[in-house]
Amino acid sequence: MKIIILGPPGSGKGTVSERLATDFHLLHVSVGDLLRKEAKKDTALGKKISSYIDKGNLVPHRLAAEIAKKAIGRKKDFLFDGFPRSIDQARLIEDLDLDAVIYLDVPEKEIVKRLSGRLLDPATGKTYQLQYLPPPKNIIKRLVQRKDDTPKVIKERFKVYHQQTEPVIRYYQKKGVLAKVDGTGKPEEVYRRVKKAVKNR
Ligand code: AMP
Repeated sequence: MKIIILGPPGSGKGTVSERLATDFHLLHVSVGDLLRKEAKKDTALGKKISSYIDKGNLVPHRLAAEIAKKAIGRKKDFLFDGFPRSIDQARLIEDLDLDAVIYLDVPEKEIVKRLSGRLLDPATGKTYQLQYLPPPKNIIKRLVQRKDDTPKVIKERFKVYHQQTEPVIRYYQKKGVLAKVDGTGKPEEVYRRVKKAVKNR
């Protein structure tokens, strides 16, 4: 099974993807997580990637596609979380026979609220949300806010999303593989809707 999860920043892609990957035995490929890992390294590539992420911009499309393709290797069952994020990227994986593209629909107002309460565990790369997905008490002290979850960078990420990623949603809609899922409400409810949409395909 080959699945793509799309949606605006903070729409819950990571949370949904983690559970889907477990339930359907898929390799979970979060290009954002892979890029953050690479950005931590004190290398020329790491610095280059940080310069894009920290400003809320997309890294060059070929680099994102290379990382995504390298991660799946020869695997036939995988889930791309937050990839492709532009038409250029979508064209670079046109050869893949996709089973479903899930679009998590969440209004911008709700997302701004969610992002302001979002925290990252640098030890595991896992993301929590103070209201919807509270972290275990024993790890609270080590949690940090993502550098790109500040109001200025969030604004830029939304701009990039509208300009570059929304056309990808229309692209997959035309291909007949898109399932739009209401991403509002509790993580449990959202996941139930997503699972149903995947099963229906
Ligand atoms: P995310 O964790 O999915 O919110 O991604 C964090 C950041 O990583 C984005 O704001 C981009 O700078 C970068 N990124 C993630 N996925 C992609 C992608 N498919 N193409 C280009 N840049 C990406």
